[in-house]
Amino acid sequence: MAQKDAKVQDLSQESVMFMKRYSAFAVAREAARYHSGWERAWRSPMPKKSYDVIIVGAGGHGLATAYYLGKNHGITNVAVIEKGWLGGGNTGRNTTIIRSNYLQDPSAAIFEKARSLYETMSQDLNYNVMFSPRGVMMLAQTQSEIRGYLRTAQANALQGVKTEFITPARVKELCPIIELSGPRYPVLGALWQERGGTARHDAVAWGYARACSDMGMDIIQQCEVTGVDQADGQVTGVKTTKGDIACKKLGVVVAGHSGVLADMAGFRLPVESIALQALVSEPIKPCMDVVIMANTVHGYLSQSDKGEMVIGGGTDGFNNYTQRGSFHHAEETVRALVETFPMLSRLKMLRQWGGIVDMTGDRSPILSSTPLGGCFINCGWGTGGFKSIPGSGWGMAELMAKGSSPLTDAFGLNRFAEGRFIDESVAAGVAH
Ligand SMILES: Cc1cc2nc3c(=O)[nH]c(=O)nc-3n(C[C@H](O)[C@H](O)[C@H](O)COP(=O)(O)OP(=O)(O)OC[C@H]3O[C@@H](n4cnc5c(N)ncnc54)[C@H](O)[C@@H]3O)c2cc1C
Repeated sequence: MAQKDAKVQDLSQESVMFMKRYSAFAVAREAARYHSGWERAWRSPMPKKSYDVIIVGAGGHGLATAYYLGKNHGITNVAVIEKGWLGGGNTGRNTTIIRSNYLQDPSAAIFEKARSLYETMSQDLNYNVMFSPRGVMMLAQTQSEIRGYLRTAQANALQGVKTEFITPARVKELCPIIELSGPRYPVLGALWQERGGTARHDAVAWGYARACSDMGMDIIQQCEVTGVDQADGQVTGVKTTKGDIACKKLGVVVAGHSGVLADMAGFRLPVESIALQALVSEPIKPCMDVVIMANTVHGYLSQSDKGEMVIGGGTDGFNNYTQRGSFHHAEETVRALVETFPMLSRLKMLRQWGGIVDMTGDRSPILSSTPLGGCFINCGWGTGGFKSIPGSGWGMAELMAKGSSPLTDAFGLNRFAEGRFIDESVAAGVAH
């Protein structure tokens, strides 16, 4: 075993020094030699005894936090600890919608920062995350939704976020497969964000992981954090299934398991954990090149590059930690969407799944210091945190490095005690 570990360490050192850039030339070279020369994208080292910073959770938010700690603040003595495999939580389970059309100013700031970072992420990380700004529309199917989205469009104009309210005719032009005169809820217009879209979720996690590993950070998979060590009100390290590891600062970035980690650290969070589900159809020819969210009937839809219709539904009606789908949700979601997309009734559904999302009362995230000194929390992204990964990582890294960040200041835990909520129930209560 010791010999095997030594080999892993050696490989890791080699990779730090010789991580090669991906390029068109490299693809051609590897094609010519049967792809025998690709190196591992990231190292898998054993943990060291101590780090300056430990991040718990190798989802998109944890990895992005680590990446910007290194890139923006020069902090690279960092470990990202993951109990399963990296990107195996909600980051690898979501429906990949990216948009920034939120109502409140602090939300627009962090989501628009994230959306703009997605535009150049493939170049920044030297990893193709397949960002596809194909446009996102949120259908207005009731009078109150029209009012809500007109208000959001006005707010976005003031925030410098480019959105517009479009007519049913324009909706049909952008998405010919839609049925405007649905039996229960006709389409009355939509909030349209032209530069919203999708990205490949796994690639976002993999790209950040590779870049972190390249900076010398350790990504430690199959290692569960089971306790948080502290002395005199300060965090001193974590207990894990691979032994105790000391740290000066701790970032807890575990989405649906935030309450569990907070309990280990000795504080409570105003967060509920609930399963959110999605499903995909069999692949079909390209028929839809926008993302559509129908929040009244409770479903949303896009077409993947493989041709599958990617369909998202709602959360379970009760708190739970079961990462799986259920038949009644698939049935409910498809039944609702068929009214607006009758063509769906002809498709076979291929697979479904669930992820545990972390919901706050005001439907806004928490990026904050905590009652435990040196321990920071990033959670509460609920049903819509894929889109925010780079902005969240940017802000969280600044918060951990400097003690505050203009991107995260409004999202502190203290807002719940002070009644200073950031109400995004229209933008994020159901939607993604
Ligand atoms: C079905 C579904 C659809 C969604 N659709 C969208 C969408 O279209 N657009 C959008 O923006 N968002 C969407 N989301 C939300 C989005 O996926 C999440 O907000 C986001 O991925 C959260 O990322 P994260 O890094 O915080 O969490 P995760 O990716 O869940 O990462 C947390 C990690 O922490 C690890 N962990 C937990 N406990 C421990 C421990 N004790 N020790 C070590 N590691 C631990 C977990 O294994 C996990 O890998 C969707 C979510 C789901 C479930």
